Amino acid sequence: MDHNFLDEITGSFAMPAADNPTVAMVEAVYRHHQLPWRYINCEVTPANLANAVKGARGMNWAGFNCSIPHKVAVIEHLDGLGASAEIMGAVNCVVRRNGAYIGENTDGKGFLLSLRQLTDPAGKSVVILGAGGAARAISVELALAGASDITIVNRDATRGQTVVDLLNARTKTIATFVQWSERFAIPAAAQIVINATSVGLFPNVDAELNLDPETLQLGMIIADVIPNPPRTRLIRDAEARGCLALDGLGMVVNQGVIGIKYWTGIDVDAGVMRNKLAELFGV
Ligand code: NDP
Repeated sequence: MDHNFLDEITGSFAMPAADNPTVAMVEAVYRHHQLPWRYINCEVTPANLANAVKGARGMNWAGFNCSIPHKVAVIEHLDGLGASAEIMGAVNCVVRRNGAYIGENTDGKGFLLSLRQLTDPAGKSVVILGAGGAARAISVELALAGASDITIVNRDATRGQTVVDLLNARTKTIATFVQWSERFAIPAAAQIVINATSVGLFPNVDAELNLDPETLQLGMIIADVIPNPPRTRLIRDAEARGCLALDGLGMVVNQGVIGIKYWTGIDVDAGVMRNKLAELFGV
């Protein structure tokens, strides 16, 4: 630590700042490990982003998360980017390293850490539903981790093809786009299937993916990015059909684990964070 008379400060630049479960999750684990650190949530408008980053520098913050709408706009205010954030063109975690503010993206890294509890994606065939920010981050990270092929399934063709083009241009994976216009049948060769759409997110908990549940095959790993509620319809269907299921809570928790490791150098207890989120979400 650079000083000993103040807590080290980390935080989040968000809009709106209210209702951010990450704050409670991170603060709970700081307290658990008796770390002299704080995680402060700040409401930052797009017009104030430049000044907010200057403020963090001025106060020597150890780093901060940033969420929509700042994930791309923050880049011009930073001193450099981590490898995957550079490919994605999006930053959700800023880390002070030797006085420089470096942008990282922990969305995909958090997912990958969760997935590694079940399997190594190297050489695996992956299907990703969706082509938004979460899909882009996860697909880049899985491609860098050696996934052999990635199929992006999305309603909007332009968005889907953009992610596919990025993967083919910047990584070694073989990426293919499938337009999602009818009930999607998961190819039997898929080993990892990920819902990276917003379907199922609270309060639309009964929303159903336009997917044939009969094509969820025994042995497939089925993952959902939706953290609340964690037991989405997809997760329940997958478990009922004997698949290995991975919920979206793990991705949030592991993003926290990775961010805190970046900022503090400490490996924190993921269980404490998961319990705090489960308490907040009432699950
Ligand atoms: P975006 O708005 O960038 O993308 C949304 C995606 O969902 C698009 O691909 C969109 O398709 C698709 N979509 C939305 N509604 C439907 C539908 N009815 N049927 C099919 N596809 C649909 O959002 P993000 O990528 O940022 O976030 C997606 C989800 O991931 C959110 O629910 C968010 O909460 C979650 N998330 C979870 C994280 C975690 O740590 N667990 C981290 C980050 C995000 P189209 O392009 O065709 O409109």
